[in-house]
Amino acid sequence: MQYRKLKDGTEVSVLGYGCMRFDKKGNRIDIDKAEREVMAAIEAGVNYLDTAYVYSGSEEALGTILERNQCRDKVYIATKLPHYLIKNPKAVDRYFDEQKKRLKTDHIDLYLMHMLPDTAAWDKLAGFGMKEWIDRKKASGEIRNIGFSFHGDTPTFKALIDAYDWDFCQIQYNYLDENTQAGKEGLQYAAAKGIPVVIMEPLRGGRLVKYLPPRAKKLMEAYPVKRSPAEWAFRWLYNQPEVTCVLSGMNTMEMVTENVRVASEAMPGEFTKRDFFLIEKVKEAINQSVKVGCTGCAYCMPCPQGVDIPNTFLNYNKLAYEPKTQVMLEYLQITGMKRDNSDVSKCIQCGACEKHCPQHIPIREELKNAKKALMPFPVEHAMKGVRLFLKH
Ligand code: SF4
Ligand code: SF4
Repeated sequence: MQYRKLKDGTEVSVLGYGCMRFDKKGNRIDIDKAEREVMAAIEAGVNYLDTAYVYSGSEEALGTILERNQCRDKVYIATKLPHYLIKNPKAVDRYFDEQKKRLKTDHIDLYLMHMLPDTAAWDKLAGFGMKEWIDRKKASGEIRNIGFSFHGDTPTFKALIDAYDWDFCQIQYNYLDENTQAGKEGLQYAAAKGIPVVIMEPLRGGRLVKYLPPRAKKLMEAYPVKRSPAEWAFRWLYNQPEVTCVLSGMNTMEMVTENVRVASEAMPGEFTKRDFFLIEKVKEAINQSVKVGCTGCAYCMPCPQGVDIPNTFLNYNKLAYEPKTQVMLEYLQITGMKRDNSDVSKCIQCGACEKHCPQHIPIREELKNAKKALMPFPVEHAMKGVRLFLKH
């Protein structure tokens, strides 16, 4: 296993265990199976374990596994505050105490504001006394590092990075998201400020493995260096020194074995020009199975109404090869779940964007199609309610 450092010099394994995807037996986590897999990873050197208040049963299961095996002190626990459920300052303590109880621990090594959407949400928490609360918990040793997890766009991410003295952050990042979400630009921005970046969704929830179009698979199979789609995705991440730790939601022993091997072998800067070329071709193959030939160049931006045109087409295209509900949710997380929404419902069909598109895409027409697919009326209506909630 290889290790990279947090701000305070703590060495965390480059592979983190994502505890969101423990297998279930009926409605309940199969704790014995999860225990075998988690302990195999810990014995192989994994010391970063990621969970959250809202991952059903996950915190309790992790606490039980660590207690049964008496290995709490060998690992670092990352868990997340569901700040979006908080209505008053007392609730912060209630959630935190419950999380420590579930995890059977007296301290949380890495505590995150879960899915922090924008600086307005952070300001709202600060208004509840969150900064003072963090200071108190750090002083008592109950929290060792404070961070946030994020699913929005690059400018929002950068603004959040600048909004507080974070110890670390967590972003969705993989070769298909190189230029969306926080993206490479966001990763490098945080790293340049000395903020360690933990990566989630390295395989897009398994989608860079299970839903790869056949042409992409063939390209990998024909390449002289034989690697599985998962190994390529992990190596692309480890190649970047700005990446501190990559979370993987492992729920088979084969996954644990492969992920541990790759995390032990892959070095930053090891990718050759040919390797990058392969990944570009794979991305092309994924993108070719799509509806709109948008390259994400953003020449059409900014839209005077604030519509995020490239992200709308990116997600519309994803519907061709990824599960619909996941794509819709992700699109809404990036564009809709913030005070200043940038989703397609804001388009007034003015046409200003079309003059600038080098691909000559009939943007207005395609946005109408995208809206039908990504934000049908009930969803649009529900998002209005979510934004009203965020404003209070
Ligand atoms: S047509 Fe829609 S997306 Fe294009 S500039 Fe006008 S409002 Fe923005
Ligand atoms: S200008 Fe055209 S190709 Fe570029 S992001 Fe906008 S719609 Fe896509």
